[in-house]
Amino acid sequence: MVILKILVINAGSSSLKYQLFDTEQHLVLAKGVCERIGIDGGHIKHTPTGKPAMEEDNAMATHADAIRRVIELLTSTVISSMHEIDAVGHRVLHGGAEFSGSVLVNDDVKAAIRRCFPLGPLHNPANLTGILACEEAMGNIPQVAVFDTAFHQTMPDYAYMYAIPYEYYEKYKIRRYGFHGTSHRYVSAKAAEFLGKDPSELKIITCHLGNGSSICAVDGGKCVDTSMGLTPLEGLPMGTRSGVLDPAILETVMKNENITDISDMLNILNKKSGVLGISGISSDFRDLIAAKQDGNERAALALKCFTYSIKKYIGAYAAAMGGVDAVVFTAGVGENNATLRAEAVEGLEFMGIAIDEAKNNTRGTVDVTANGAKVRTLVIPTDEEFVIASDTEEIVRAL
Ligand code: ADP
Repeated sequence: MVILKILVINAGSSSLKYQLFDTEQHLVLAKGVCERIGIDGGHIKHTPTGKPAMEEDNAMATHADAIRRVIELLTSTVISSMHEIDAVGHRVLHGGAEFSGSVLVNDDVKAAIRRCFPLGPLHNPANLTGILACEEAMGNIPQVAVFDTAFHQTMPDYAYMYAIPYEYYEKYKIRRYGFHGTSHRYVSAKAAEFLGKDPSELKIITCHLGNGSSICAVDGGKCVDTSMGLTPLEGLPMGTRSGVLDPAILETVMKNENITDISDMLNILNKKSGVLGISGISSDFRDLIAAKQDGNERAALALKCFTYSIKKYIGAYAAAMGGVDAVVFTAGVGENNATLRAEAVEGLEFMGIAIDEAKNNTRGTVDVTANGAKVRTLVIPTDEEFVIASDTEEIVRAL
């Protein structure tokens, strides 16, 4: 089957982001987002590539309504019929231990995504709703599920086990899974390509730093450890998420603040913590940098906690792999902020990591390594949607 056009969908509980790819010409034809599905104030922003964005208020009762409207918008701007769309690729958050790669959606896959609902209660139901909505709106078009967790399935057991009673792993599948897998996979492969080496020859640490952040140790092209855990709450302090902390903190805060419901506590850790929690200003790194420049000490502290944590993971993962050949920065913060990159590796010259200030101030895919440094430091823009489109193409092409 010749695959030309692939619709990539990232369905949230009340939103749906989409991109239409022409894989033959390696082009994004259009992208957009439907917001407030199933609630008042539905809104769609549709951007055909090279043309002005179109915005409309649209009450979408269900995700299937949203998909139907997306298809109308696509057929009125960049394609002439829905039948030009050859396949749909979906971002699915949690594949548990069931998926170590992308798969064609069938009844078994849908059942497995459902089995992972307890592991990804906020995202997986929405992701499955997106798949069912496409079935409803587009009939039996081939659909592929691409999991955020899949790349991390190669971690050894001693990296993914938590030191709690083993029966919880057996009964409830509690272990480290890791997230941002499509991004870590993409940028580590791109880094090998950039360095002109086979991935099997390289030890790479990939730093995906955005609103959510995670770090991954990639040895020989395979993930051997990653900073996010059972959920995306573990690891670095993020925009609003706490990252790692002493679990006993929960009891102390709950007692003192009279919080009786654990979900309220988790809401604080997910939505009110991280650099927002420390600074009290914002979860947006640009705001914090501006506040720090204005002399705000808590903004400076929040940024320092963030870069210090990145540095500790780089050290830990170099130790875990017995060395490191390249450190890669990606995502909103990693791609765009030279200062935070420099601070994250400051003092790591002893392990051969150093950034050149002038090179660091450029954009795009760049080698920012200081002359003489043994470890290469690279900035590589991530493209999770592109990975979803290419996995979808590969799987559907083989049908
Ligand atoms: P998401 O996790 O939502 O996909 P992104 O990867 O798009 O996030 O990253 C969003 C984050 O990137 C925001 O916190 C934003 O402040 C940050 N960011 C974008 N540009 C810059 C910049 N020039 N300097 C610092 N942070 C930036």
